[in-house]
Amino acid sequence: MNKSKVALVRCDTYDDEKVAKAVQQGLDLLGGIAQFAKPGERIVLKPNVLIGSKPEKCVTTHPAVFKAVGRLLREAGVIVSYGDSPSFGKCEPNIKKSGLKEVGDELGLSLADFDSGRTVSHKDALLVKSFVIANGVLDSEGLVTLPKLKTHPLPRFTGAVKNQFGCIPGLLKSQYHVKLPDPYDFATMLVDLNTLVKPRLCIMDGIIAMEGNGPRGGKPKKMSVLLLSGDPIAIDATACRIIDLDPEAVPTSIAGEKAGLGTYHSENIEIVGEDMESFLDRSFEAIRTPPTPCNSGRLRTFVKNRICEKPVIDETRCNKCGTCVKMCPVEPKAVDWHNGDKSKPPTYKYDRCIRCYCCQENCPEGAVFVESPVLGRIFFHAQTAS
Ligand code: SF4
Ligand code: SF4
Repeated sequence: MNKSKVALVRCDTYDDEKVAKAVQQGLDLLGGIAQFAKPGERIVLKPNVLIGSKPEKCVTTHPAVFKAVGRLLREAGVIVSYGDSPSFGKCEPNIKKSGLKEVGDELGLSLADFDSGRTVSHKDALLVKSFVIANGVLDSEGLVTLPKLKTHPLPRFTGAVKNQFGCIPGLLKSQYHVKLPDPYDFATMLVDLNTLVKPRLCIMDGIIAMEGNGPRGGKPKKMSVLLLSGDPIAIDATACRIIDLDPEAVPTSIAGEKAGLGTYHSENIEIVGEDMESFLDRSFEAIRTPPTPCNSGRLRTFVKNRICEKPVIDETRCNKCGTCVKMCPVEPKAVDWHNGDKSKPPTYKYDRCIRCYCCQENCPEGAVFVESPVLGRIFFHAQTAS
């Protein structure tokens, strides 16, 4: 069996020229850009936008990484477009806020349609047999994904595989949380999505990553690494090992290998470039236990409320904007204004909560945290100790 190559390149700045050099070096380690795109092909770049934020917040793929990849592809004669479907709102304003539009305009790249899409069947899927995919992805011949290395309470880590969730336009994304509340089913859906849209190349921005309360409210953490691979599972597994997170705690690893999307086993991954150990950061703040399978049903709700991590609001940080209420995909809402009073932070009804963490993911103030109930901590300690 051929090993999956993951290139690791040290880069400790977002200086345009230094990032461009690092991206070139990484691609050379993988055999050059011609391995992934041919002159005249239409390739769409998919940065992680989530919600447009200034680059220094480290929520989005940094414009310097986007610029380096866009320029390289252009110089190779590729026809490049780009876009992402954010958690809410349209693609263009969010792309603008994250500093990517300016770069796209400078390079002459076209903004692809990520606001509407078409239904595509996926007969080989493990679980989800059809998806609505953004027109911008369907109208291209290939996808290059540009994830950001960040934490996430649901899959524990967001990198190359999770980045393709933004290929589903608009609020259709949140419906997957309702249909697939179990984190392992949700991970299998993400893998199905990846085997459908097939990213050819993944270039992960780990120069300054996000630790702690990611993917929006965490802390920037300098990791000084760019990761490149054609295998989304292998690149995610390598990033996990760098932050001292067992790839098996990330449900997309196992589902991804089962689906033939890639491999997370270190014996099947060839690291080229810098030594992985030289980036290892055991102090990186992340949840290191696998997600608890939780689902609907009375008994499960009882168990869920005593074992599963739950979202909680830090009232001192909450600005009462209501984004969490708006983003909660269940009806009736599991987080809402108490008696309609918008002068106080919203409150939770945990029996309704499916633990999708959309409230945490989208809170602009990082005011929503994930808390593990005492029983959950005991349960997981016993599991990880056994
Ligand atoms: S999204 Fe965050 S800041 Fe806004 S109301 Fe909810 S908890 Fe408060
Ligand atoms: S309260 Fe938060 S975690 Fe619970 S269902 Fe709503 S958005 Fe998801």
